[in-house]
Amino acid sequence: MEAVNTDAQAAQDFVTGLLRHCGEDPGREGLIDTPKRYVKFLHEFTHPAPFKFTTFTNEGGDDMIVQTGIPFYSLCEHHLAPFFGMASVAYLPKKRIVGLSKLARCVDYHARHLQNQERITFQVAETLRDVLATDGIAVVLKARHLCMEMRGVRKPGTHTITSRLKGSFFDNPATRQELFDHLALHG
Ligand code: ZN
Repeated sequence: MEAVNTDAQAAQDFVTGLLRHCGEDPGREGLIDTPKRYVKFLHEFTHPAPFKFTTFTNEGGDDMIVQTGIPFYSLCEHHLAPFFGMASVAYLPKKRIVGLSKLARCVDYHARHLQNQERITFQVAETLRDVLATDGIAVVLKARHLCMEMRGVRKPGTHTITSRLKGSFFDNPATRQELFDHLALHG
């Protein structure tokens, strides 16, 4: 417990230094609790609660299950700037299906670390493949990166799309087209 507090105190002191670095007086009213708030925010954001990946016996067929418009928020590991957007997840069920809310939770869980968009896409796909024991997995992320919009090339409104298509989503043009039709309509 003491180690955590010492660690939090060191982090807060560091933020106080950052405020000075921004030309601010860390003692002024609006900033007095900012180091504490910021450290709490970062710690909460990067420590999402673990969740149980509930699966059920598949009583249906092997038709595609698609979920689109899953919002996610992350922090880029290069700049600690937010990036955020929408995820779409699809799978071809075999013996197990997953509770629908868990697809969104899986995206949220992997987004809530210091990340890059490619890695979230990869990790969501790998997690779903492990849990559902199917190769038919597709994950598509579309995001805006504030590190690109507020600094660097300064291109507001640019979207970055990453995808990971596995199994039939990769091999079978008809399956892939069916997914893309869903995404074009609802993604
Ligand atoms: Zn960045």
